Amino acid sequence: MSDSAAEVVLTERRGAVAIVTMNRPEYRNAQNSAMTYALDDAFSALAADEAVKVIVLAGEGDHFSAGHDIGTPGRDVDVSFPRRASIWWDHVGRPGADGRIAREQEVYLGMCRRWRELPKPMIAMVQGACIAGGLMLAWSCDLIIASDDSFFADPVVQMGIPGVEYFAHPWVMGPRFAKEFLFSGQRFSAERALTLGMVNRVVSRAELESETLTLAERIATMPQFGLALAKMAVNQAEDLMGLRAGIDSVFGLHHVAHAHNAEVGSDHLAGHDARTMRDAGKKDGAT
Ligand code: ZN
Repeated sequence: MSDSAAEVVLTERRGAVAIVTMNRPEYRNAQNSAMTYALDDAFSALAADEAVKVIVLAGEGDHFSAGHDIGTPGRDVDVSFPRRASIWWDHVGRPGADGRIAREQEVYLGMCRRWRELPKPMIAMVQGACIAGGLMLAWSCDLIIASDDSFFADPVVQMGIPGVEYFAHPWVMGPRFAKEFLFSGQRFSAERALTLGMVNRVVSRAELESETLTLAERIATMPQFGLALAKMAVNQAEDLMGLRAGIDSVFGLHHVAHAHNAEVGSDHLAGHDARTMRDAGKKDGAT
């Protein structure tokens, strides 16, 4: 199946609530750039739509998102898209760290920051896998409602990389657990994520959509500008607690790791692809 922008992301309206759904279920909603820019199109339109008060981000199928696309037929890392997150040059044709930083600051870090600042409440509705790049999407949302079958992991230390590009780990789960999460690469269950304060609620899989929409509809009764200010207030407080500066500083370490991998090994991902990373995640046997 081809990955046109019209197919990889779906938008549905339910009154004042909009549901944006990642639609690559055959690849556990692995995020290629086509999906990233389709999400950005959807979010931009909904931000401008006065009738929309709350946005729910969902994943079609059994899993929210298995992460960035590092191995599907629709992988499009060498494709140019018009830049939106910052003014910089295109990554295509730029060798080494030049191209990698150009791409990742736009498609990964920049887009997540852009979406975090969208002036309407965003709720991640998470089931199944929420892995690596999947975490970045969920963390960029304001609230996370998780089903009891969901699980969370950032296994990229297996690649020698100190966490995904949007390095919010110490802020969303605390430094102690951030280290365990990264060092072990193991999965945290939804219940454990709840005890760490990383998600707002855990509900049964059958009730995930209804519980999420009930909360979204409740939020949608509040004044739009008040919601925007409340969101900015908490985001500003989070940034004063070091989130923004911390992510910037770790982005450099992340790219040292990519460069080291490329310098001493076969490629910037230390020879890993989606299959080897999935196998590495299974080996630990953790839930
Ligand atoms: Zn990276």
